[in-house]
Order: sequence, then structure tokens, then C-alpha cells
Amino acid sequence: MSNGPGIDQQWARVQGRLRDEVGEAAFKSWLKPLTLTEIDDGEVRIAVPTRFMRDWVLTHYAERIRALWSVENDGVHSVDIVVAAAAPPRSTTDGVPAQPLVPPLSGIASEIAAPETRSGSENGTDYGASLDARFTFENFVVGKPNELAHAAARRVADAAAVTFNPLFLYGGVGLGKTHLMHAIAWHIRRKHPERRVLYLSAEKFMYQFIRALRYKDTMSFKEMFRSVDVLMIDDVQFISGKDSTQEEFFHTFNALVDQNRQVIISADKSPSDLDGMEERLRSRLGWGLVADIHPTSYELRLGILQSKAEGQKVEIPLKVLEFLAHKISANVRELEGALNRIVAHAELVGRPVSLESTQELLHDLLRASDRRVTIDEIQKKVAEHYNIKTADMHSARRARSVARPRQVAMYLAKQLTARSLPEIGRKFGGRDHTTVMHAVKKIEELSAEDRSFAEDVELLRRMLEH
Ligand code: ADP
Ligand code: MG
Repeated sequence: MSNGPGIDQQWARVQGRLRDEVGEAAFKSWLKPLTLTEIDDGEVRIAVPTRFMRDWVLTHYAERIRALWSVENDGVHSVDIVVAAAAPPRSTTDGVPAQPLVPPLSGIASEIAAPETRSGSENGTDYGASLDARFTFENFVVGKPNELAHAAARRVADAAAVTFNPLFLYGGVGLGKTHLMHAIAWHIRRKHPERRVLYLSAEKFMYQFIRALRYKDTMSFKEMFRSVDVLMIDDVQFISGKDSTQEEFFHTFNALVDQNRQVIISADKSPSDLDGMEERLRSRLGWGLVADIHPTSYELRLGILQSKAEGQKVEIPLKVLEFLAHKISANVRELEGALNRIVAHAELVGRPVSLESTQELLHDLLRASDRRVTIDEIQKKVAEHYNIKTADMHSARRARSVARPRQVAMYLAKQLTARSLPEIGRKFGGRDHTTVMHAVKKIEELSAEDRSFAEDVELLRRMLEH
């Protein structure tokens, strides 16, 4: 498809917006020299004069260009940046920025390109880890559990000089570590487009490193990583036990910190708890500011839901949000998933969202989250209920007064957790899986025969499911 006049106008508008966003200087240096070559099958192809520029544009602007394009033209889903001699050559006096020169190592520099954004790679080695456009500070809801991590991230993003080095963010899955890191990157890119920010997962880091080894190109690898102003490595626990990658990471880390460049790390554990990490690295990681993100509170979950519900096309009653905040407590990702489902469903069937429709729609999800009851909790509750000692759940005593409650607990463990029979057996004083199987059958039989017994078990189940 060739460029119609409409396309050229769209491109002019995209450029206009980019100019507004990045300012005249950065625009002149980096964006003005871009030429639109074609749009083909939803892919916009943009030419730049040099590989170096391509890498720079990819890391700093490609995702934004793609986003602006898709606003102009919803048929556009990706942006391809190619090096082409046809593009007007840049003069050496006009608009050459005083940037640190970064070796044009395409595979590494394109780390922060969007998933949809591929570079026009000559060697087919570009990988697109991305900055998620939604992961900004504006979209991050702050509450007690994450206020320290948020404040630290803000500080690092705002600071003109390096403050804490490294900033180490840690917390469980789906609690906002990646969101905060992307937010820092977006912020710095907007405020200081000249600073070179590199974000990637530890897994990607390892991958790049191994690749560099394989192609005997470790020099470029080292130079690349050591020339950034801000390096962010996400999920660093990934390199636990990976000794040579750790070694390289350690050197990169030290080189950057020594040059007073900002390093930001995330992990699922605190530095001292990172098993499989070398001691010197663990201790080094803890030198700056270590900020943990705690599991969400009900208030935070509700806050996040309210903020996410605001922008939706359908109205979601507060009651429903409260219900979700109450029921889905594992992590924010699941919370978002639930909300998305509700919205999608309501739009599809054109009916307002209600508590009933929500419960029905999220049936499986809610059950799955209910299933997070632990066997310990079950044993404790059941023991309390039948007025026996919790220790009797593990004991060898066979008296009916303890054996029956134990069977009830085994039955509930099977119903409410995802544990296997042998696992359940082990939790009950190392019993055999056939014992658990027998208990499950026994309770089913008794429930079928005896209504009040069945109700008793049902009551226990409901209490455990809260
Ligand atoms: P992690 O990296 O810690 O596993 P993410 O940063 O990927 O978690 O967060 C998972 C999802 O939850 C993302 O969609 C993110 O936007 C969202 N999220 C997490 N915490 C918050 C928060 N405080 N406010 C808004 N969204 C959040
Ligand atoms: Mg993450």
C-alpha cells in the first residue's frame, strides 16, 4: 500500500505531537530526521539514516510513535524502524546531540521497544521487551503496603543526581514491581530524554550475555550495558544459581555504580533472602535503598479497583468493587483480570453490572481464590469446631472422637485446596494417601446418610471459604 495524502497528514500529526511531548531540541535531534516510507498491512515503516539512530529511536521513542500512530489510525498496530540510505542524511552541525555515544548493538538496545515494535534488523536479533504504556506513576494507586516503594521510585525518577544506589524493590508476584520500574523509565524519558534508560528482565540480561558469549562479542555487550545512565533489571532472582551470568551482572553493576549511574533492581525476595546468589552480590544489592511491597490490603485493592473502574465504558456499582476487593486478595493482576472480565461481559450482553452477575461470571475464579485456604487453617478450624487439639490432626490416636474430625479435615483439604492425596496425607502426620482417600469416601457416605452431619461439614466449609 502506498502512502495516500491521508497517511502523510497522519504522520505530520504524529510528528507534531511528538514535538510537543519531547520538546524542540530532542525532536530536532532524533525525530525530525525520520521519514515515513510506507504503511503495509498495519505496519508503519519509518526510515532513519544510521543504525545508531535507529537504536536510539527504538529504545526511546518507538513505543510512543506506535501509540500515537494507533490514535491517528486504528489500523496501525506496529512500527518498524529501518536504516535506509534514502532517508535524508543528518548534517553534522545541525541537531547532533551531545549524547553519550552508545555502540549500535541492536539486539540489546531494542530491549525497551514495544512487543509490537520491531526494528528493521539486519541480523534478525532484536528482541522486544517492552515498556507498558499503562504502567505510569499516574496509574499507580498508592496505599500503605506500597507507599515506601512508591516514594522511593518517585525519588529516583525525579532526582537529578543519583540518590540511592541501587534501588532494590522486592515483593510477591503481581504487586506492582514491574509497574513501578516502567513508571520510572517513562518518567525519566519524558523529563530527560537525553538520559539513556535501559529496562530489561534478568532473564533477558542472561540471554543477551549468553548470546554475546556465543558470538564472541562480549566487548560490545559490556560497553552497551556500561554506557547507560539508568539500568533496570527486573526479577533478578532469575539469575540465582546461574553463576557466570551473576558474575557478569556483578561487574556490570559495580561499573555502573562506580560511575554514579543509577541502578534499579527488582526481585521477589529481599537481597539477603536471595538463595543461590553469591554472597558478595547479595550484600552489594542491599547497599542502597531496599524497599519492599507488602501484600495488598483491602483498602488498597478497593482503591485500585475504583481507579481502574473509572475509565471503563460501563458503570460498576461500588458493591461489586467491594465484593471483588474482599474476595480476590492474591494479587493485583488477578483483580484486574476479574474487572476486565466483568466489563467485557457487560459490554457484550449489554446488561448493567450487578453483584449477582458478577458472582456468576467469576464463579471459577472465586472458587480458585477460595481454594487458597491452607491445610493448616483447615486443621485448626476443624479442631476448634470439634473441640479437639490441633495436634490430634497429626497424632496416631484412633479414638472416634478425634478420628472423625481428622477425616472431616482431610475431606475439606481435598475439597478446598489443590493438594494431592499424598501431600494431604503427609500433612496429617505422614499418613498414606489411601487413608486420605478412605476419609474422603467416608465423609461423603456419612453426609449422604446424615443430614445434620452434612450440614455441619457444609458449615465448616463455608467458614473456611469465608
Ligand atoms: P509484579 O511485577 O510485582 O509481579 P506488576 O507490576 O506486573 O507486578 O503488576 C501486576 C498488575 O497489577 C499490573 O497490571 C499493574 O499495573 C497492576 N498493579 C499492581 N499494583 C498496582 C497499583 N498499586 N496501582 C495500580 N495498578 C497496580
Ligand atoms: Mg514483574
